[in-house]
Amino acid sequence: MERYLDKVYRELRSRFGEAVQKDVSLSRYTSFGVGGPASIFVTPSSESHLLFLVKFFTREQIPFFVLGRGTNILVSDSGFDGAVISLGEDFKEISFEANLVWASSSVPLQHLVEQTSMRSLTGFEALTGIPGSVGGALKMNAGAWGFSISQFVRRIVGLRKNGESISITPKESDWTYRGFVHNDIIFTKALFELQPGKADEIKTAIAEYSARRHKSQPVGERSAGCVFKNPEPDMPAAKIIDQLGLKGERIGEAYVSSKHANFIVAHPGATARDIYLLMRKIQKIVRDKTGIYLEPEIILLGEFEE
Ligand SMILES: Cc1cc2nc3c(=O)[nH]c(=O)nc-3n(C[C@H](O)[C@H](O)[C@H](O)COP(=O)(O)OP(=O)(O)OC[C@H]3O[C@@H](n4cnc5c(N)ncnc54)[C@H](O)[C@@H]3O)c2cc1C
Repeated sequence: MERYLDKVYRELRSRFGEAVQKDVSLSRYTSFGVGGPASIFVTPSSESHLLFLVKFFTREQIPFFVLGRGTNILVSDSGFDGAVISLGEDFKEISFEANLVWASSSVPLQHLVEQTSMRSLTGFEALTGIPGSVGGALKMNAGAWGFSISQFVRRIVGLRKNGESISITPKESDWTYRGFVHNDIIFTKALFELQPGKADEIKTAIAEYSARRHKSQPVGERSAGCVFKNPEPDMPAAKIIDQLGLKGERIGEAYVSSKHANFIVAHPGATARDIYLLMRKIQKIVRDKTGIYLEPEIILLGEFEE
């Protein structure tokens, strides 16, 4: 019998052409480089396409996932039996008005940092080296060295999963440490307010943050950044894991980084299951030895078995 999602694929394909693909391996869309296929993979090129798809998937009760640059997710080896939405070209715009900047969701965060620094706007320097997209950074409230992207957001524009368009000024309480509380919002763009700064100071700060990152993190290896949230602001998960001697711990080809204990790095041949089981092992050891529960920061997509 034909799978329901195959029927859905044919229907969407006839409407959107090659923007709709089926059984697409997600490993090449994630920084871990692991994971199985998405049943449907669609790249809407405009807001009207996105609106159609979101309403369609919601009405048909098809699970869907909005993918950014895949730098904070772990996709299961069996993939995702649903639809992955990857925002396309129309979501890559940046525009400036004095010290205000609109950036669409598919803009790489690093491009935004470069563009704002080129205009001598200060604020984003600490976000240097975070490899995600603007959309993913908003959803995760990405940040580093005491700064987070939410500090600079003045407006977010997007859709709710029921298709309702939104354009709101978020409140401080809408953001959490590494998160945004409204799970049903898909960001299409955001307005940021930065401050006029001095070009040489911005350049120096960017170089310093970049050097700090290269010194303390396994930059260039396959990872998804910090695996666990810090249990408390003054209690880094990395320190807890390191103090328990877990650097270098491995399952299969997944290793706890020897450079940063809260990073898991995937060596060639690693599977999502290796990474998942290593996460579980770290959680268990930390809980047994300290009583602390380490909550994952990375998003798990698909089914994982113990
Ligand atoms: C080497 C390395 C270093 C890192 N360093 C840091 C760091 O210092 N600080 C930090 O905070 N993070 C860090 N990260 C993690 C990651 O880069 C950030 O969380 C980033 O913001 C995720 O963006 P993304 O586009 O890759 O999102 P994805 O990984 O694709 O998705 C993450 C989540 O965002 C959601 N999402 C994506 N786009 C949208 C959208 N348009 N609307 C609604 N939801 C959306 C997804 O559904 C998912 O739930 C690091 C990762 C790596 C690999």
